[in-house]
Formats: sequence, C-alpha cells, structure tokens
Amino acid sequence: MRLCRFNDDRLGVVIEDHVFDVSDILDTLPQYRYPLPRFDPFIARLDELTPQIHARARNAKALPLSNIQILFPVANSGKIIAAPVNYQKHLIEARADPGIHHAIQIAEIQKVGLFLKATSSLVGPSHGVILRHPERRNDHEIELAVVIGKKADRASETEALNLVAGYCIGLDMTMRGSEERSLRKSLDTFTVLGPWMVTADEFAKHLPAQLTLRVNGEVRQSASTADLIMSIPQLIAYASKFYTLFPGDILLTGTPEGVGPVHAGDVLIASIGHIGSMTVEVRAEENCK
Ligand code: MN
Repeated sequence: MRLCRFNDDRLGVVIEDHVFDVSDILDTLPQYRYPLPRFDPFIARLDELTPQIHARARNAKALPLSNIQILFPVANSGKIIAAPVNYQKHLIEARADPGIHHAIQIAEIQKVGLFLKATSSLVGPSHGVILRHPERRNDHEIELAVVIGKKADRASETEALNLVAGYCIGLDMTMRGSEERSLRKSLDTFTVLGPWMVTADEFAKHLPAQLTLRVNGEVRQSASTADLIMSIPQLIAYASKFYTLFPGDILLTGTPEGVGPVHAGDVLIASIGHIGSMTVEVRAEENCK
C-alpha cells in the first residue's frame, strides 16, 4: 500500500497515477489534548487501520496525482535520525573533496555514529527546497528513508525490520561547511520526504533498491542500497541503543557517492526502485516571500 498526505493535510492511498482520499480514517484516531504525544498517532495505529483504509479507498473518488500538492508522508515525526557516510564510495569522495570535508576528518559510520535533524526541516516534494544561504555550497543527498512503525528500545537486528512501517524517498539536503552536521542539515526545507510511504509488507521484497538522483535531467547519484556499509537492520538496532524509537520516527540511511551542489532554479528528480520518483524544485528565498 502507498500512503500519501496531500493538499490541506488530506490522507490518500496511491494506486498507479491516482490518489484515493481516505482522510475520514483520521477521525477514528484518539483525540489528544495538551501535552501532545511525541509520536505519530496515525502510524502507531496503521496495522489495525489497514483493512478500513483499503475499504474506504475502494469507495473514494479518484484524483489524478498530477493535480495535487504532495506533502511529506508522516505528519508528526518525533525525530529524524540520519546516518553519515554510510556508502564506501561516498566516504572516499568526501575524504577527497575539501568542499565536502572542510578540513574535518571524515571517519567511518562505526566511529561517528548517527546524528539528528530537526523535524522543522521537513517538507514534501511539492514544497521544494529553499536556499537560505545561497552563497554557501548546498548539496543534494538522496537516501532511502525508513519510517519506524513501533516503539522500540535496544532492538535486535533480527527483529529490526519488523519495526518498520514503511519506506519513502528522502533528500538530506546539506549546507557544506565547518559547522556541526545537525546545524548544516536542519535548515528549513532541508529534509524532503515523499512522494508517499510504501508500506513495509509491500516494499521489503524489493530490497535492495536502486537510488537515482537527477539534477536538470543529468544523473548525479546512482547506487544500490546493497552497498550500504551499515545495513537497515544494523542502523535500527544501533539507533535504538541510544534513542527509544517511536512510531513515525524517520531514519535516513545515508547517501551514496555523487553528491554535488544545487542552485536556485534546479529541478531534482529523486527515484528509488519500487517507490517511484519525486520532483523537487530548488528556489531562492527571495522568490518565496
Ligand atoms: Mn545524508
């Protein structure tokens, strides 16, 4: 199943090139009052709601995908966990390019661990990326994004994939420089997720997945998740040694080689195997006010 959020926070099931509005399902979620939970209440209930979602989709009106605004697929992620240098060839290119490493020694993921991005950096593909510091180098990083479906603390690698609700395409946009990763990667609009979440039951059999990122039609990144240094189960187990994972948490699994700068006016097309593609425009800040 492919789930998307669209237009004014509608929930939809995507089938081929149409979306079926199942937003009524959201009325069945528990009503929370302050203080609000730090997880995503819809993702937390996804398993039990799935039969109802299918039933409602069958009776819903079909809207062409080409006519809707696509938002990021998980509304209330509590945290975005991200893997630095998790592909060997990206490690080599990062060490070789002063424009990437900025005189900071780039160590393997086993030594660096993981980092967090601000949830306020999240946008969907229809929103696009806004460059707040266009005078700096701002890079594209395509990554397979994992949506955590269940609460987990110190998960084992064996059980890790059972904790996943689904997968989507991620762009871990990055301003290069000497500052901490969490600063350079948490600018508004610097985490693009979309175009929909493919549920784990459907996507798991399509792993490993091919990732491709094009800028203005030119292929910049092309690799397979088979080349991940730390695998998805290893990343989940490792992350949960430090952070309790909650439904809706996002795990960005790292970018392969081929990262490079983007500029206002560029059009990115990010594709991952069975998930599909999303088109993301890069804009200057002054054009957005
Ligand atoms: Mn990254």
